[in-house]
Amino acid sequence: MSKFVGAHVSASGGVFNAPDNAKKIGAKAFALFTKNQRQWKAKPLDEKTIDAFKQKLEEAEILPQHVLPHDSYLINLGHPEEEKRQKSLDAFIDEVQRCEQLGLDRLNFHPGSHLKKLSEEACLDRIAESMNKTLEVTRDVTLVIENTAGQGTNLGYRFEHLAHLIDKSIDKSRVGVCIDTCHMFTAGYDIRTKEAYDQTWKAFDDIIGFSYLKGMHINDSKPDLGSRVDRHHSLGQGKIGLDAFRFIMNDPRMDDIPLVLETIDDTIWAEEIRLLYGMVQ
Ligand SMILES: [Zn+2]
Ligand SMILES: [Zn+2]
Repeated sequence: MSKFVGAHVSASGGVFNAPDNAKKIGAKAFALFTKNQRQWKAKPLDEKTIDAFKQKLEEAEILPQHVLPHDSYLINLGHPEEEKRQKSLDAFIDEVQRCEQLGLDRLNFHPGSHLKKLSEEACLDRIAESMNKTLEVTRDVTLVIENTAGQGTNLGYRFEHLAHLIDKSIDKSRVGVCIDTCHMFTAGYDIRTKEAYDQTWKAFDDIIGFSYLKGMHINDSKPDLGSRVDRHHSLGQGKIGLDAFRFIMNDPRMDDIPLVLETIDDTIWAEEIRLLYGMVQ
């Protein structure tokens, strides 16, 4: 088995509950928030919590590299105002350190937003600077940049944006990308037919490179191709359709990385995971 599929599971009650929640739906990978994603502050992880998480992960037979933690929605590493950028940076470094404590090797984040106060390029440079400051004070965790739908003033909707951030990085061995299929599609990258799929991933490889792919979010999309609106849907119920997911499940370039559902109906995640594994030919 070379595909590791799961979902963004709940960690409510404590991060150690996430591996159990993943196991219950037949997941071999998962995403989680290591703190409340809508609050700036969180109490530090204590030793008991850390040990319990590691034990539960082992019991679920899920490897640390198949866990893709997601950072808080409040963080904007490219914030045009210095004070707010610093607040984001402090919170981001704390998130990376929480991953280190849990023995996890990657953290998924959204690049940031220019809020119409900076050019795209200036904001990308600011994000790269925040990433570099984080790399300087942390050790073990790879910073995994997620592509976005490009809603509002969010950056990261072009492969070139992600390449720009990698290019400016002081340690390319600790930078990666996570491609969300819904975001990719609504940003204008088609994957619905084999021809479109091949063309899109060729562009990805030319501009970014598959060696940087450290995870994927597997979502269908409510809005149409190129709409720049971020609304996920259950697999096969949105505008992408099932073929694209069949291509992914049979594409060795997506082997050995966490493939994480963020689809809208968590009551059918087990079913969606079975559906995906059933597509493997
Ligand atoms: Zn996502
Ligand atoms: Zn999304």
